[in-house]
Amino acid sequence: MNVLARLPESYEAIRLEAETFANSLEAMSVEADASNDVHPGVLQAVRDSGLIRYTVPAEYGGAFEKVDPFAVCLIREELMKVCSHADSLFALQGIGSFAISVAGSSAMKDEWLPRVATGEVLAGLALTEPVAGSDLKSIVTTARQDGDSIVIDGHKSFISNAGAAGYYTVLAKEGDLGLSAFLVPADTPGLSTRPAPELIAPHVLGDVLLDSVTIPASSRIGEPGKGLAPVLATLAVFRISVAGAAVGLAQRALEEATRHARSREQFGRPLLRLGPVAGLLADSWADVASTRLLTYQAAQLAQEDPQRHLEHSSLAKLAATEACSRVVDRCVQVMGRWGLIHDSRIERCYRQARAMRIYEGASEVLRLGIARELGSEVS
Ligand SMILES: Cc1cc2nc3c(=O)[nH]c(=O)nc-3n(C[C@H](O)[C@H](O)[C@H](O)COP(=O)(O)OP(=O)(O)OC[C@H]3O[C@@H](n4cnc5c(N)ncnc54)[C@H](O)[C@@H]3O)c2cc1C
Repeated sequence: MNVLARLPESYEAIRLEAETFANSLEAMSVEADASNDVHPGVLQAVRDSGLIRYTVPAEYGGAFEKVDPFAVCLIREELMKVCSHADSLFALQGIGSFAISVAGSSAMKDEWLPRVATGEVLAGLALTEPVAGSDLKSIVTTARQDGDSIVIDGHKSFISNAGAAGYYTVLAKEGDLGLSAFLVPADTPGLSTRPAPELIAPHVLGDVLLDSVTIPASSRIGEPGKGLAPVLATLAVFRISVAGAAVGLAQRALEEATRHARSREQFGRPLLRLGPVAGLLADSWADVASTRLLTYQAAQLAQEDPQRHLEHSSLAKLAATEACSRVVDRCVQVMGRWGLIHDSRIERCYRQARAMRIYEGASEVLRLGIARELGSEVS
């Protein structure tokens, strides 16, 4: 099914490594994907796989000199075909640590990144608040300098790995300076977590409450008031990987529906040969194949300069996540009543696809940036 997207040899080796590992999770994935807490078996397996090293720079135990968006993308595609819980554990190590990789102090990198690379410490990125979602500039969590310390007060909500992470990268408003980013260890007095409401597709998610949390001023990531820059750098590298995950999920759904349509007969022939059903499957293959090519191309551009090509990553994320939702919906239709069975593979795909169009840039918000870019490109 992937014949159109041939990979350079070294990337095919990474893809194969991830595929072999992901397949080993098949049996555990039903339980893990139904869990709102970190699944110990999957966490240990992800740690042992060594794949997390693709989420941090080589100097701190990573695989490449700089985090490689194409490699991350391929790994997420394979993990998401089998286990969304493993995909999330893997991706969050990069999403929660990239700001430190690009803007953290040497001491901070030395202390935290090697442990992120092995999975000993889980990472979290705390941006969203009850009032601030897509509009990050509206966050109301505050940070104020008090001598050599920083005091943070606020409430972050819907934070992946909340309660499990060893630290959070927190974005807060620092007076008139603007938004600053801070590394806040999870065991800092005044920091507490509570579970988020359960989602249609379970996810390790919670709120992070910061009540006069006091950390050394050296915990600042980057310059005062310039905290949005490393966060945007994180998005530039990891947004494209959501597209990779969406391609993987869509392919898995299509494989399930195709097997079903090949073996089940109605009106004397396999569903696969009933015109409208064939159309659903063919359109889905077109969606998977075309968004995979777009995703790989955008990931390769991001390898060169992630921020300069952010709109291409947004384009791929938009196309792949929207296509993934269309594909899984068609696949449920192809499988008739079997598509509706709770916790069956196809029903899990159906639920897992939905959130991808909301996090790391909701589709409507991405469209605004993409249209702006289009306007500037057309002469
Ligand atoms: C599974 C999951 C994991 C998450 N993990 C994290 C995490 O680890 N860290 C973290 O900080 N956050 C996390 N989030 C939160 C996520 O980042 C937000 O849900 C996302 O930013 C969207 O914000 P919102 O949900 O408040 O929607 P809103 O911003 O309220 O948007 C609602 C709707 O309005 C549309 N909209 C908003 N603004 C515009 C506009 N200007 N023009 C047109 N349409 C617009 C949106 O596209 C959307 O359709 C997670 C969310 C989920 C579901």
